Amino acid sequence: MTRILISETPNFVGKIIEIAGWVSVRRDHGKLIFIDLRDRSGMVQAVVIPDKEEVYKIAKDIRSEYAVKVAGLVKERPGKSANEKLATGKVEIEVEEMEIIARPEEELPVDVSDPEFNLNLETLLDYRIVTLRNEKVQAIFKIYAQVLEAYSEVMRERGFLEIKTPKILSSATEGGANFFKIKYFNQEAFLAQSPQFYKQAGVSVFERVFEVGSVFRAEPHFTSRHVNEYIGLDAEMAFISGFAEVMDELEKTMQYILESVAKNCRSELEKYGAEIPTFVPIPRIKLTEAVEILSNEYGKKIENLDIDSEGEKLISQWAKKEHNSDFVFLTHYPYNLRPFYSMPSADPEYTETFDLIYRGVEIASGGQRINNYQELLKNIKKRKMKPEQFKDYLDIFKYGIPPHGGWGLGSERIVQKILGLGSIKEAILFPRDVKRLTP
Ligand code: ATP
Ligand code: MG
Repeated sequence: MTRILISETPNFVGKIIEIAGWVSVRRDHGKLIFIDLRDRSGMVQAVVIPDKEEVYKIAKDIRSEYAVKVAGLVKERPGKSANEKLATGKVEIEVEEMEIIARPEEELPVDVSDPEFNLNLETLLDYRIVTLRNEKVQAIFKIYAQVLEAYSEVMRERGFLEIKTPKILSSATEGGANFFKIKYFNQEAFLAQSPQFYKQAGVSVFERVFEVGSVFRAEPHFTSRHVNEYIGLDAEMAFISGFAEVMDELEKTMQYILESVAKNCRSELEKYGAEIPTFVPIPRIKLTEAVEILSNEYGKKIENLDIDSEGEKLISQWAKKEHNSDFVFLTHYPYNLRPFYSMPSADPEYTETFDLIYRGVEIASGGQRINNYQELLKNIKKRKMKPEQFKDYLDIFKYGIPPHGGWGLGSERIVQKILGLGSIKEAILFPRDVKRLTP
C-alpha cells in the first residue's frame, strides 16, 4: 500500500489506507485507544479496538511523539463526535495494522501537543528541535515559506531576474562597525551586511534584479526586531524617472505578498487570530512632516530628524487612524543619515530615499542611487572616505549605468508583524543573536 497524506483521508471513506506520522496524544477510553496522529498535512484521530490483539499490544506501548505507520479503515465519525475544528474531523481511522518506526530516546522536555503553547522565548529557542513540532509554531514557518514564494513570484512577474551575490567580501565596503570579520585562508574577510554593490552591478546588465539572501549584521542589539543573521529580500531596478517608481513597485510587492498569505494560509493565520485587512494605497509622507505630526499629535520630539522606534510606532498608528493603512512610507531622509550612494534631493540636505513602516516597525529601506561616476566620486570624497577603497564599486559607474534604485526588505519582520509575534526570533528557525549561536 502507498502512504497517503492525512489531509486526504476524508476522500477515502470506506477504504483501507496507509498513513504515517507522529503521535500527538494517546488517550485511553475504557478499552479503546485513541491516537491523534499528525503528519505534514494535518492531524487525524485513529482508533484501536481490543479485538485486534496484536495491534492493541503495540498501541499500548505508544507514547507522544513516536513516529508510526498505520493501515486502517477510514470511517465517518457519527455527527456528535465529529471534531468541527479539524479539517479531517469528520473521519477517523480504525486501525488494522500499526508499526512503530521511530521512538524518542527520552521523554520530550515540553508538551508539544498544547495548542496554546505559551512558552517563554528562551525555552522556545533552547529546545527548538522539539518546539518546532508544535502546530502553532509550524504555522509560522508555513507563512514564512509563503512570503518567500510570493516574493519570488511577484518579482519574476514584474520582470526582475533572480541573482545570488557573494556573502564573503574582501573589505567592509559600506563602512560602519557592523561587519563580522572572518578568517579567509591567510587573509581577513568580511560577511556581507547587504548585497547593495552587487545588485547595482546586476542592474547595469539586467535592468531589474532581485535576491533572496543572507545578511549578516554585527549589531549588539537586544531588541524584538534585530538578529545578527537574517534573510533580506532585495531588489534593484533601472531606467527609473524617480524614486516614487521604486515605492510603487515595493507597494505592489507588499500587496501581492499579503494577499497571497491571506489566500493560502487561512488556518495558520487563525491560530494567531491574525487578520490581513484589505490592502489600501500606502500613504507617503516626508520625514519632516512625520516629525511635525509626531510633535503635534503625540507630543513626541524627534532630534535631527533621526526618528526612533517609538516614533515609527506612533506614525504607524497615525497612518492607521488617518488612512486606514497598516503601512506608511516615510520619504526624504536627511543626507547625513543615509549611505553615500543615496541620490540627493533638489535640496541637497535631503535624499531621494524612503523607509517602509509596517504595523509600527521599519521593514524596508530604499531609494534612488547616484548613477553618475563623477558625482559618486565627489560624494565619496565629501564624506571623507577613500575612493581607492571603492575601486570595484566605482567601476560599475565608469562604464555607464542608467538611473536606478531599489530596496532592502526584511523577510522575518514581515512575518513577525503579520502574526503579531513578540520577537522576530520566533519567525526564524534557528536564530542567531548576540548570545545565541546554538542550536
Ligand atoms: P533598523 O533601523 O531597524 O536597525 P536598518 O535601517 O539598520 O534597520 P537596513 O540596513 O535599512 O536596516 O536594512 C533593510 C531591512 O532589513 C530593514 O528594513 C529590516 O527589515 C531588515 N533588517 C535590518 N537589520 C536587521 C536585523 N538586524 N535583523 C533583522 N532584520 C533586519
Ligand atoms: Mg533602514
